[in-house]
Amino acid sequence: MTESSTGHASEGPLRVAIVGVGPKGTFALERLLDHAATALGSARLHIDLFEASPVPGAGPVYDPRQPAYLRMNFAAEQLDMWWPAGGVIPVGERLAFPEWLARTERDARGDAYAPRAQVGAYLAEGFASVLRHCPSNVEIALHRANVTRVRRDEHGWSVEAGGEVRVGQSRYEEILLATGHERGSESGFGQAWPHVAPLIPAVFPVQRWLSRERLAPGARIAVRGFALTFLDAALALTEGRGGRFVKLAHPYRLRYEPSAEQAGLILPFSRSGRPMLAKPDPSMVAALPALEEIAESGRRRLLRLDEIDVEAHLLPVLATTAASSLLVADHRRAGDERQVQLTSQILARLRSVVRGARFAQTGDAVGEIERSLAIGCGNRGPDEAWALGHIWRALYPALVTRLSGHPLAPEEWPAFHRLAREMERLAFGPSPLNAAKLLALIDAGVVDLRHVSEGRLESSRDWTSVRSEMGSDAVDAVLDAVLPAPGTGEGGLARALVEGGHARVLDGGRGLEVLYDGSCIGGEGEVTPGLAAIGRATEDSVIGNDTLSRTLHPLADHWARRVVSRAHDAGAPASNVSAASGAVA
Ligand SMILES: Cc1cc2nc3c(=O)[nH]c(=O)nc-3n(C[C@H](O)[C@H](O)[C@H](O)COP(=O)(O)OP(=O)(O)OC[C@H]3O[C@@H](n4cnc5c(N)ncnc54)[C@H](O)[C@@H]3O)c2cc1C
Repeated sequence: MTESSTGHASEGPLRVAIVGVGPKGTFALERLLDHAATALGSARLHIDLFEASPVPGAGPVYDPRQPAYLRMNFAAEQLDMWWPAGGVIPVGERLAFPEWLARTERDARGDAYAPRAQVGAYLAEGFASVLRHCPSNVEIALHRANVTRVRRDEHGWSVEAGGEVRVGQSRYEEILLATGHERGSESGFGQAWPHVAPLIPAVFPVQRWLSRERLAPGARIAVRGFALTFLDAALALTEGRGGRFVKLAHPYRLRYEPSAEQAGLILPFSRSGRPMLAKPDPSMVAALPALEEIAESGRRRLLRLDEIDVEAHLLPVLATTAASSLLVADHRRAGDERQVQLTSQILARLRSVVRGARFAQTGDAVGEIERSLAIGCGNRGPDEAWALGHIWRALYPALVTRLSGHPLAPEEWPAFHRLAREMERLAFGPSPLNAAKLLALIDAGVVDLRHVSEGRLESSRDWTSVRSEMGSDAVDAVLDAVLPAPGTGEGGLARALVEGGHARVLDGGRGLEVLYDGSCIGGEGEVTPGLAAIGRATEDSVIGNDTLSRTLHPLADHWARRVVSRAHDAGAPASNVSAASGAVA
């Protein structure tokens, strides 16, 4: 482990700490090294990395040790961990995920939606590559430790961490929070648990929480939540226990063959009961170049908006773009009248969503999933739900750019959140394979949707049951499959920084208020020197943080540029610097 004494910028290298070295912490490190390499000779940096999980780069979400049935919901062909213009890593090591797969020969064919474990191996290798190419004016120390507190005093920033790291030893001029899905920021669902059946408080890691010891074969399990985490839990309790999915002579339908070890019955319950729709096959959009032209025009309109009132400005762009896309995808002749009619129909639906209504139901949950699969593989003509999902995916980068640094007025956030929740359901759902697996589990009677809409738990003296207007079913355990919301969760580092006045939550939003380079705004409205955050803790100040996309959010690049220029201003000649330390456990 590299240790260095407390130092002022003028005496030695600029001292930087990155807390959390999952994907985004790694991306920020790569940007920092790249800018430092360009400034070689005039900027010196010492970087301490703090990472709680055993696999830096991958972090828990992409832990390479997790089972292969836990897959991405982001097509493998779009995955590339490298910044487009980076130079510090040699081109031969800056491989996009599909090239990396082919090169490593792990699976030269690749899958449209890869196992997260495989993506984790790619990210971990990328992290090692970043360390290997650390320029000579930078030294790096990796601390495998959970940071429990970030503090500031007259000497600078310091962190408190367990493991090997001695508290208060080091002071930093710059600290970056990249803690993503922070532990400790729990949903609060299980606090003061009143039920007889035990609560399993989380799904991940499935090896820990969904083991046979916790959930015995044959157990009847109520599951809170019906989104992607529910799907992973259902797979862990069936396929992960030896069940098998068999292909049928059908474009997407599967049959499930049970195992003796699997859960007896899985009963999801959620507020809305609405399913996430299956992603369509990308070939559908690729075959119609006019869709990209329509999307491009929608993106331009979004970027040109001076202000965003959700109902007055955003919805009309979405509605016209969706209507045009639907007419093209459905091979219907546009015609002014048809276009106007469809636009106003979609606009009315979107308005009712932002005012709190649910998107008009096209069927029950099974019917909606089935329909999205049929549309996605071309077996059925597209519908409004497809069009809205498509345009949300296609316009999202422009929305992220437009809102970055120019957030909504505080009173607009509730409407935006209602809209985003519904659009994400239509746009960012499971892969077709996972949606087909869910249908097969429902067909086999292992997953039962009886209580999925507005189900609730109740306990008598002897047992717990899940109840809805469809009746009541006793369960052996309750599983929480809802991830804590993004932002400054209870018990997390970001919350403590807010409480200490070093940061504040965006007015009307959920996450820390940050500038274009991640710099945090303090309680008094001033920029807090040396404190920055990227990722989930900044949600709303920056939108759409839950992604591996390198290009969607340029904050880490701007942050790295600023930090290196600070090191440059304070730096001594590079000849004073010993070789980089690289990765040290
Ligand atoms: C189950 C699941 C599946 C997902 N699937 C996809 C997908 O298919 N496609 C996609 O684009 N996105 C997906 N996401 C979204 C995901 O948020 C991002 O892809 C990505 O993980 C974000 O990276 P991050 O570094 O910001 O956060 P994280 O991946 O959460 O990494 C944060 C890192 O910080 C570390 N850390 C946190 N707190 C501390 C602390 N106090 N001290 C030290 N270290 C700390 C953690 O150990 C972790 O390594 C998924 C998310 C989840 C939860």
